[in-house]
Amino acid sequence: MTGTVYLVGSGPGDPDLLTVRARRLIESADVVLHDKLPGAEILESIPEAKREDVGKRAGGEWTPQEYTNRRLVELAEEDKTVVRLKGGDPFVFGRGGEEAEHLADNGIPFEYVPGVTSAIAGAGVAGIPVTHRDHTSSVSFVTGHEDPTKDESAIDWHALADTGGTLVVLMGVGKLPAYTGELLDAGMDPETPVALIERATWPDQRVASGTLETIVDVRDSEGIEPPAITVVGDVAATRERVKAFLRNERDGREETE
Ligand code: SAH
Repeated sequence: MTGTVYLVGSGPGDPDLLTVRARRLIESADVVLHDKLPGAEILESIPEAKREDVGKRAGGEWTPQEYTNRRLVELAEEDKTVVRLKGGDPFVFGRGGEEAEHLADNGIPFEYVPGVTSAIAGAGVAGIPVTHRDHTSSVSFVTGHEDPTKDESAIDWHALADTGGTLVVLMGVGKLPAYTGELLDAGMDPETPVALIERATWPDQRVASGTLETIVDVRDSEGIEPPAITVVGDVAATRERVKAFLRNERDGREETE
């Protein structure tokens, strides 16, 4: 007998944003393999006995992906029901694709369970729609993790600047100076609004706003750290217009219970 592996998205961190399917699967799973991205609230709601952390280890090193892959197969072969819990959506910069391939290669049945991605919801909770008829009709999701100055960078920031659409950069706190520099070099307006949303939907969510030209200073003065998304484009200014009436920030939200 072989157990099934569920590749489950946790959403950005607010436990209320887990899907019903995710919650049910977590409850019935034998083991939940996770990293830190689902956030403390969701992780602490899972009994410790069935949690296995495959994220950053104490020394600051990442658990190698090969270990996680091997562990998923091993548990399934022991007929365990396994939830592989990932922040946001498993197939958005989450290595869920690689895990799906590895499971299939090893004959392990799996199910993909979509999650609310931080790439869209992280902007939305700050009052920023990733598309807006008055501003943009396209949006690109980009990893900021690569060094744009390295020769073999796979990301063409100049081409992205030319789309005129919204850019949402994930894993892009550290390399912010490099890719904002590339976008300015590509001729993007220095006044283009930019927002950083740190720990979106977590109790300590923070939003910092600026422009393409000022955002690096804003990041430094506010001390913005990962996990955060960067939103570049005119839509980022929508926040100012709606902010006073936005009830997403957890402090200001009216509880219904
Ligand atoms: N699969 C995830 C993304 C994984 S990559 C998703 O769909 O959301 C990791 C990056 O996601 C982080 O560096 C950050 O850019 C972003 N991220 C994930 N959760 C976040 C959150 N709650 N707030 C802000 N950014 C978040």
